[in-house]
Amino acid sequence: AGTIKKEKMSAESVAMYRLKLKEAIQVGYTILKDGGTSLDAVEKTINVLEDSPLFNAGRGAVLTYEGVNEHDASIMDGKTLNAGASAGTTTVKNPINLARAIMENSPHVMLSGPGAETFAQEQELEIVEPDYFFTENKKKALERVQASEKNKTASFYDSEIKDSKFGTVGCAALDKNGNLAAGTSTGGMTNKRWGRIGDSPIIGAGTYANNATCAVSSTGWGEFFIRAMVAHDISALMEYKGLSLKEAAQLVVQKKLPELGGDGGIIAVDNQGNMVMEFNTSGMFRATMNDKGELYVEMFKD
Ligand code: ASP
Repeated sequence: AGTIKKEKMSAESVAMYRLKLKEAIQVGYTILKDGGTSLDAVEKTINVLEDSPLFNAGRGAVLTYEGVNEHDASIMDGKTLNAGASAGTTTVKNPINLARAIMENSPHVMLSGPGAETFAQEQELEIVEPDYFFTENKKKALERVQASEKNKTASFYDSEIKDSKFGTVGCAALDKNGNLAAGTSTGGMTNKRWGRIGDSPIIGAGTYANNATCAVSSTGWGEFFIRAMVAHDISALMEYKGLSLKEAAQLVVQKKLPELGGDGGIIAVDNQGNMVMEFNTSGMFRATMNDKGELYVEMFKD
């Protein structure tokens, strides 16, 4: 989600994003169609996006203040309410796979930094040199933010953040057995420092799934998503207040979040298969595929 305007994007760039979203969702759809689990669909769909330099996750992650990449990811199983999350890793090629391994093969929910990397090695996940994640456009983005930060006030810096694209990737899925799952993977925010962790690996903020309600994945200015507990709040509004997914998502994304000062969006599916993609920015790269295989891909508001 972010400042994504038709007039600012070339036709080639639009086509590239559309193609990648289509490729990713097709992977998840095929898993679900063949009777696979929503967890597998979420993980493998996110892998496609992580392996692409187009998004702020995996290969295309944004740079920290020091010019390196630090990845956050999380996944949640709506059937069992099990969850796994990793924060601040620098060498794990697919952080969503690490989040899932943490959920399934460790007694913990969240691991961070070097410890998470040791666990990833023990799990024989793919490890890469940090420069695998280096992309020229993310370097330019860091230079832009740091230049504007130099002699400006905090409020100017805030508007710089607001003006940028977020680009975290996520997926929410419902399988044939009625099980929901959601996952999120990100490089965080450009110029982040001091080991900053965003909402993406925080269960309840960046990711939440519960078979009783819905599965949600968030993208946006993480500090606000943590404070508003966006993903869980949507689920809670459905569970405790009887709101529909659409009503709950609108309330949180269009009212609660902007009132705090945050922007971004969510993708979600409920336990009946209703899909909602709500954002309060000018655009959000997004796609859905229903049980008939009908594809919807969009980037801009209208
Ligand atoms: N939510 C992410 C974070 O704050 C950024 C994003 O959505 O791209 O780390």
